[in-house]
Amino acid sequence: MKVMTEQKKKYDFLIVGTGLFGAVSAYLLKKRGFSILLIDKRDHIGGNVYTQKVKGINVHQYGAHIFHTSNKKVWDFVNGFVEFNRYTNSPVANYKGKLYNLPFNMNTFYQMWGVTTPEEAREKIEEQRKECCIESPKNLEEQAICLIGKDIYETLIKGYTQKQWGRKCTELPAFIIKRLPVRFVFDNNYFNDTYQGIPKGGYTVLIEKMIEGCEVKLGVDYLAQKEDFDALADRVIYTGEIDRYFGYQYGHLQYRTVSFETEILESVANYQGNAVVNYTDAETPYTRVIEHKHFELFGQEVEDCPDTIISREYSKEWQPGDEPYYPVNDEQNSQLYEQYKVLADAQEKVIFGGRLAEYKYYDMHKVIERAMEMMKTID
Ligand code: UDP
Repeated sequence: MKVMTEQKKKYDFLIVGTGLFGAVSAYLLKKRGFSILLIDKRDHIGGNVYTQKVKGINVHQYGAHIFHTSNKKVWDFVNGFVEFNRYTNSPVANYKGKLYNLPFNMNTFYQMWGVTTPEEAREKIEEQRKECCIESPKNLEEQAICLIGKDIYETLIKGYTQKQWGRKCTELPAFIIKRLPVRFVFDNNYFNDTYQGIPKGGYTVLIEKMIEGCEVKLGVDYLAQKEDFDALADRVIYTGEIDRYFGYQYGHLQYRTVSFETEILESVANYQGNAVVNYTDAETPYTRVIEHKHFELFGQEVEDCPDTIISREYSKEWQPGDEPYYPVNDEQNSQLYEQYKVLADAQEKVIFGGRLAEYKYYDMHKVIERAMEMMKTID
């Protein structure tokens, strides 16, 4: 590519990354009359929310994405591009062949102990909590036992958490488990948010609509041709890894990564009867199995579609070359990120936004809120 020599650069903004942060920013800036070039390293748009249609089923290529929010503004915003379906996440846990409902609720307590009333369930948990004599929980194991008792901890939490994080529950912070709801009602809805669903036709449609009218170049690595790309636009919105942007000069930030073993099962209309089944024992090597069709087909529709697609999900420590998924927000990594952030703040013409550029585990609705908030500061 030739460096442009004209006084006026061709675009007002170069947006690096076509995931949710990049796409929402593109939409909002374009609406205000700015010209935009969007680029992505991958050969498709959408970042990790990308879905691909295979055998009539939208496959969540980079893991299950279930949209949920209590922010009406965000919900109306996404529904303005594409209608969302009625999907409600209610994962099932498989522990050595026995099934339990998640999140922890009256169904789980009945399956675990045979208790039928909230009072009996509370008594059971209290009894187990007393036996363990934990005053103030110091790690995930102690927090989980205090919250829900030893039986549920050992059956539904211990093995799964150790597989997901590659660390013992006694070495993990207590806050991780506080994400999970505990309810004394018969309600298997995994989230507490007001709104929930999946875009009809998949997330790729949502992203396509957001970036409609913007110029897009795929399969190009910004940092490999940085000077050339920078010459094209007045300002840059960068959504890639912050440590990579600065040439890893202070060292690598750590991530957990996930890999997927995806299989098309021909003439199997319904493999596991649910979109998400967690394998909570320590022996099964994968953490969960996703059956993609259940994200968008319900009731008889499931059986009417003759084939199915499943993905087994494996969790491991990130190595250079892997896709970064979950930032490891422990003390050491948070300190390292702060060093990079000082460098980022000094870049006057570059905005760093999203999960990788801010090294933050954002849910999708939080990424959208963040992009909306940051774009307001642009003049
Ligand atoms: N968790 C668990 N058993 C389960 C599901 C979740 O012990 O069957 C714990 C585990 O420690 C996990 C945390 O709850 O890291 C948060 O789970 P969540 O579903 O929010 O994780 P995500 O889907 O975002 O990876």
